[in-house]
Amino acid sequence: DNVANKIAAGEVVERPASVIKELLENSLDAGSTDIRVEVESGGRRLLRIVDNGCGMLRDDAMLAFERHATSKLSNVDELEAIATLGFRGEALPSIASVSRLVLETRSPDEPTGTRVEISGGKLLSCEESALPAGTAISVRDLFFNVPARKKFLRSDQTELAHIASLVTHYSLAHPEKSFELTHAGKELLRVTPVLTDRERVFQVFGAEALEDLVELPQRDVGEGRFRLSGFISRPQVQKTNRNSIFLFVNRRLIRDRLLMHAITAAYYNLMPPACYPFALLFVDCDPAEVDVNVHPSKTEVRFRNSSYVHDHVRDSLRATLIEQRP
Ligand code: ADP
Ligand code: MG
Repeated sequence: DNVANKIAAGEVVERPASVIKELLENSLDAGSTDIRVEVESGGRRLLRIVDNGCGMLRDDAMLAFERHATSKLSNVDELEAIATLGFRGEALPSIASVSRLVLETRSPDEPTGTRVEISGGKLLSCEESALPAGTAISVRDLFFNVPARKKFLRSDQTELAHIASLVTHYSLAHPEKSFELTHAGKELLRVTPVLTDRERVFQVFGAEALEDLVELPQRDVGEGRFRLSGFISRPQVQKTNRNSIFLFVNRRLIRDRLLMHAITAAYYNLMPPACYPFALLFVDCDPAEVDVNVHPSKTEVRFRNSSYVHDHVRDSLRATLIEQRP
């Protein structure tokens, strides 16, 4: 019901960037290769995401707004093998309960698409519509019906910075896809498909930034159960806050204290205290190795054998840094 949705929204939807995260992950789940994000007024006025993924059939488009209805979990065993980014069927109903949302979607197998309009969790309309294949979701007036939450939003600039960081980092994790971000019609990011992580880092940050970074040699650890890759800053290049460390598990942006610690520990004695490196670290592994169901917004994960992962990340980063020393 609507109250449950609003409560869930409190967990999933913290700010405009958390809406974008959920929508981006859905677009990636849907196999999209081209993702465009449009933002107005830092996301309070408009958040719009357009993808070229598998789209939804009419019934599924309606079901997507029923809480848990779309949960792909039908038994506990499946918890072990969640390969997709999302699985709880909570994001769309939550977002729709605290905004004015329009979903436009068409599966490439269907001649016409579906347009669904929901305001504050109430279904306003659902109609057949001529649409391109893929999905477009517009979220307007976030928190219009929850003034207490709206008050907590920061300036447009701050909210936009969070969104831009998110889209940028997702683009880094998926070099084979195109991403575009515009704010009030102004293009902030546009990247076309490339073959390697390195080329994507170049597209996003430029040649100079690339010189400050070391690419980790792709390394399989734990009898091939984990693959580490990514970029870390040379020890002489320092940042003073932790916000320059980006962690991805199976190409999904996460927060993890243990991995964060492993990264800073790799720089022990190579960098002055109270400094942080820049890092873009990808851990790819069997989904069964990691529990993504720790936190509603799915940003926290728990590795089955966390100290093992910690030590391997620290040691392979450190080995790379030591090799780089003049
Ligand atoms: P979850 O991702 O946890 O399943 P969501 O509420 O985020 O739950 O999405 C509900 C469902 O709507 C998804 O399972 C998916 O079937 C469908 N869906 C959402 N976004 C898209 C999209 N961009 N393209 C295709 N299907 C989508
Ligand atoms: Mg989802």
